[in-house]
Amino acid sequence: MSTMHYDQLYVGGDWQQPRGTATIEVHSPTTEELIGSVPEGSDADIDAAVDAARLAFDGPDAWGSWEPARRQEVLARFADELESRAAETASRVTQQNGMPIVVAEQFEGGFPPLLLRYYSQMVVDQAEERRAGMLGGTAVVLREPIGVVGAIVPWNVPQGITFLKIAPALAAGCTVVLKPAPETVLDAFLMAEAAKAAGLPDGVLNVVPGGRELGAYLVSHPGVDKVSFTGSTAAGRAIAETCGRLLRPVTLELGGKSAAIVLDDADLLGNIESFFASTLLNNGQICWLGTRVLAPQSRYAEVVDTVTGLAANLVIGDPLDRGTQVGPLVSSRQRDRVESYIAKGGSDGGRLTAGGGRPEERDKGWFVQPTVFADVDPNHTIAQEEIFGPVLAVIPYRDEDEAVRIANDTDYGLGGSVWTADLERGEAFARKVRTGTIGLNHYTNDPTAPFGGIKSSGMGRELGPEGLSAFQNLKTIYLPPTAAS
Ligand code: NAD
Repeated sequence: MSTMHYDQLYVGGDWQQPRGTATIEVHSPTTEELIGSVPEGSDADIDAAVDAARLAFDGPDAWGSWEPARRQEVLARFADELESRAAETASRVTQQNGMPIVVAEQFEGGFPPLLLRYYSQMVVDQAEERRAGMLGGTAVVLREPIGVVGAIVPWNVPQGITFLKIAPALAAGCTVVLKPAPETVLDAFLMAEAAKAAGLPDGVLNVVPGGRELGAYLVSHPGVDKVSFTGSTAAGRAIAETCGRLLRPVTLELGGKSAAIVLDDADLLGNIESFFASTLLNNGQICWLGTRVLAPQSRYAEVVDTVTGLAANLVIGDPLDRGTQVGPLVSSRQRDRVESYIAKGGSDGGRLTAGGGRPEERDKGWFVQPTVFADVDPNHTIAQEEIFGPVLAVIPYRDEDEAVRIANDTDYGLGGSVWTADLERGEAFARKVRTGTIGLNHYTNDPTAPFGGIKSSGMGRELGPEGLSAFQNLKTIYLPPTAAS
C-alpha cells in the first residue's frame, strides 16, 4: 500500500505552504504502519483560513450574495468530483479509522455528494415569505447565510459528519473553515482536492487539520460567526462555554448511550442484521448506537443468547476486506479506553457472555472482540458511560414501565431503537423515550429528518430542513401598510 503525504494546506482556494512546521502522521489501526502525513495547522493557518473565508463571505461577489441556483451549479460540480473519488474516499477512511469498507462506501463515499445535492436544491426551493401583518403592513421574512462557519469534526465518521455541516452551510451561502480530527486527515485532503477541481470560489472552503487546542482557537476566533461541532460531550461543554461568553451560535452533536429496547413480542433473530447495524456498526464507534440492550424478563435468557450469538459470530478482520463486519478501533488509546470499560463491566458484577479480549488471530492492530455483558445493573458504569467500542450491556426489565424508566435513566438522549412485532405498540413505546431520534426494528438517519440529541447529547439539529436553518439568520423587513401588496 502506498503512503499519502501532503506538504501544503488548502486555504483560500489554493494549496499553500503551512505557516508552522509540525506534521500529523497517520498510522493504520490495522497494521500499525505509517500510512500518510499532512502539515499540522497552526494558529496562523487558522487566521489565514478565517481571513479567506471572511473575504469570500464579505468581499466582492460574495458567495452568499449569489443566486441559490448559481451556487447549486458549483455544488453540483463539487458533488460530481466527490463521486468520482468516492471509492478512494471510502478506502482512505477505512485505512485510517478501521471502518469496515462496505460501511465506508455508504457513509463516507455515498453520503457527501447526496447531501450537497439535497441541500443546494432545498435552498433553490426556499421561497421568500411575505406575511400579511396584523397591523396592516406586510412582513418580508428572509433567510440569510449566517456567515463564516467554524466546523469541527471527529474521526469516527469523518466525511459523513463533515457534510452534515458543510453541505447545508455552503448551500445556504456560508463560508467554512473545517478542522478535521488528527486521526482522519487524509480523507479531508482528498475532499479539498475535489473542491479545488470543482472550482469552488477562493476561500469558500478551507481545511486546517489539528488537535483540540487548534479547535479551541478556531471556536474563539473573532472572525467566526457560527460553530458547528461534533465530538465528545466534554469538548462540547468547553465549546459551549466559549460560545456562551461570545454569544456565538453553536450546534453541538455529542455523545450517547442509547437504548435498544427489545419488547416481549420481538423477533430479534429475524431482524438480526438490523440489530447489528443499530448496536455494533463501525466497531461500536458511532454516537447513536444502542449499546444498552433492554431485555424483558419473560424472554431474558433467549435475548441474551441471541445477542451473545451475534457478537460471537461477527467476522473480525482487515476492514478493507468486504466480508469484514468488525475492524480495529481507531487507536491504541481508544483500545485502552474500551478495555478499561470491559474490566470495569466485570468488576462491577456484569456477566461476560461474549468477547472480552483481543482476537487471538490478530497480532497487529487495535482490535477488540465484540463483547457482551448480561445481568448489567442500570447504574453500572458500563450502563451509564459512553464506551465507544463494540461492547453491549444487556439489562433485564420486568414490564414496559420499568423499561421506559431504565431507557430514560441516562445523562444522554441521542438515538435508540424499539424491537417488536407490533409497529403500533412500538411507536407508542418510542414516544415515551426521552431522546432526539429513535427507530423501530432498525435505526437509520434519514437525510430528510432532523437528527440530534437532548440532555448531554447536544443542542441543535442536523439533517432535514432544520439542518439548513442552523446556518441561516432570519431577517424581517416590515413593509408599511401603504406598500403592502
Ligand atoms: P473529541 O471531542 O475528543 O474530538 C472531536 C473533535 O473536536 C476533534 O476534531 C478534536 O480535535 C476537536 N476538539 C476536542 N476538544 C476540543 C475543544 N475543547 N475545542 C475545540 N475542538 C476540540 O471526540 P472524539 O473522541 O474524537 O470523538 C468521539 C466522540 O464524538 C464520542 O463521544 C461520540 O459520541 C461523539 N460523536 C457524536 C456524534 C453526534 O452526532 N452526536 C457523532 C459522532 C461522534
